Amino acid sequence: MSQLPESAVRRPDIRSGRLSADDYIANFSDLHPPLTRHEAFVEAERCYFCHDAPCVTACPTSIDIPMFIRQIAGDRPEGAAKTIFDQNILGGMCARVCPTETLCEEVCVREIAEGKPVKIGQLQRYATDTAMADWTEHPYQRAASTGKSVAVVGGGPAGLSCAHRLALYGHNVILYEAQQKLGGLNEFGIAAYKTVDGFASLEVDFVLGIGGITVETGKALGTEVTLGDLRSWHDAVFLAMGLPGVRALDLTHEDAAGVGDAVSFIADLRQTDDLATLPVGRKIVVIGGGMTAIDIASQTKRLGAEDVTIVYRRGQDRMNASEYEQELAKIDGVKIKHNAQPRELIVDDDAVTGIVFEYTQEIDGKLAGTCETFTLAADMVFKAIGQSFDNQPLYEEIESVALDGGRIKVDDERRTNVDGLWAGGDCVAGGDDLTVTAVEDGKIAAESIHRALIG
Ligand SMILES: Cc1cc2nc3c(=O)[nH]c(=O)nc-3n(C[C@H](O)[C@H](O)[C@H](O)COP(=O)(O)OP(=O)(O)OC[C@H]3O[C@@H](n4cnc5c(N)ncnc54)[C@H](O)[C@@H]3O)c2cc1C
Ligand code: SF4
Repeated sequence: MSQLPESAVRRPDIRSGRLSADDYIANFSDLHPPLTRHEAFVEAERCYFCHDAPCVTACPTSIDIPMFIRQIAGDRPEGAAKTIFDQNILGGMCARVCPTETLCEEVCVREIAEGKPVKIGQLQRYATDTAMADWTEHPYQRAASTGKSVAVVGGGPAGLSCAHRLALYGHNVILYEAQQKLGGLNEFGIAAYKTVDGFASLEVDFVLGIGGITVETGKALGTEVTLGDLRSWHDAVFLAMGLPGVRALDLTHEDAAGVGDAVSFIADLRQTDDLATLPVGRKIVVIGGGMTAIDIASQTKRLGAEDVTIVYRRGQDRMNASEYEQELAKIDGVKIKHNAQPRELIVDDDAVTGIVFEYTQEIDGKLAGTCETFTLAADMVFKAIGQSFDNQPLYEEIESVALDGGRIKVDDERRTNVDGLWAGGDCVAGGDDLTVTAVEDGKIAAESIHRALIG
């Protein structure tokens, strides 16, 4: 059994209400406050309206960025919003959560020339927010009914995007969602300060506003309905169930009090009406190197934790979280340690009090422990080492749906190997696990389903 340093031998200190009401408001307010009309004009004027614009190629949903920026410059934010929504019906959320620093803004010619890209994400938000507030009617009209019915399983970004486009083409969509609320990780996962004021549910209402989408919440594939049911009731099925499984550390005492998974904690944080009621430790250790690790670290720090450390098993250059995201966490006061892997959870009276790490090194690309260890005191330890696809809901046809690396295998049109069955978003192999790529998957699948149904 490893020994904690004397200073770390202590009872866990986990409690709610660490901050004043004003501090909670300040810490969880909008990360990037919206541009004013004047600021949007000034920013739009910075765009060169490039021919063959690299920003468009870098956008996973191929939004015509110079076109919508030109529309903003011409004081036509609603036209700009329509340009965005034609390609990405969740353009409002993507404006808030896309890692633009590694997508459109990374390749903007202004970034290349002067290190200061046009603020494409902020302009997209200006256009979509303005239009969504101003429109009194839904901007899309459904085509005449085709009489075809499509099941969409999962109401996250991939499912919503697919449902909207199918409804637009006149198909009847039944959206089966396991939770009581739609939105997927937009509602339960994205950091609270990236999407304030209930925007995720406002956006769901906007998407459903087209009509033709029947929502069945509390209906999980695998328990309330089976894949066989859906295939017999509908002309096509689109699977967009995300990654509901959470990877384990495979350490003894993983079920001790204070050890938890980051995604569940963030879901509680996103759903609470009062942040002051959320218990948080004084010392937090987060294990992982992606967006989830950064988000749980920043959010627990903003809830009043005194000392938050992310520990990642490889070097900084291998972290999935962008440098920009890492920087944001550091500004919040989060420490990031690299090249160390968890070895032992230290538990006192069934509650975690610390965690032992072993330093690592890469030898020929393979990770190996160095046998040198260090210990961090912790009231809470969060696992953020990735999520996994749960194929149990497909149980009766598990054998027939081909997987690749544990996720559903699809072709370029997001068709699975099973006739009449499509899939997209995080649950399929080979994606980027981003909101915007899930939206694009839903759109591509809807186009393919439409072609298949209409011939
Ligand atoms: C903590 C966290 C922070 C993130 N932050 C960002 C970010 O800032 N920017 C970004 O671009 N991406 C971010 N991502 C990734 C992004 O949220 C996902 O890539 C995206 O939500 C995937 O969309 P999806 O529709 O495939 O799955 P999900 O959003 O997971 O939606 C899946 C839906 O299916 C439902 N479901 C699951 N199983 C069943 C079943 N058996 N039957 C019926 N319904 C079911 C779920 O309840 C859920 O509503 C983050 C992810 C996490 C975990
Ligand atoms: S690359 Fe930059 S300057 Fe060129 S069109 Fe895109 S946003 Fe405008």
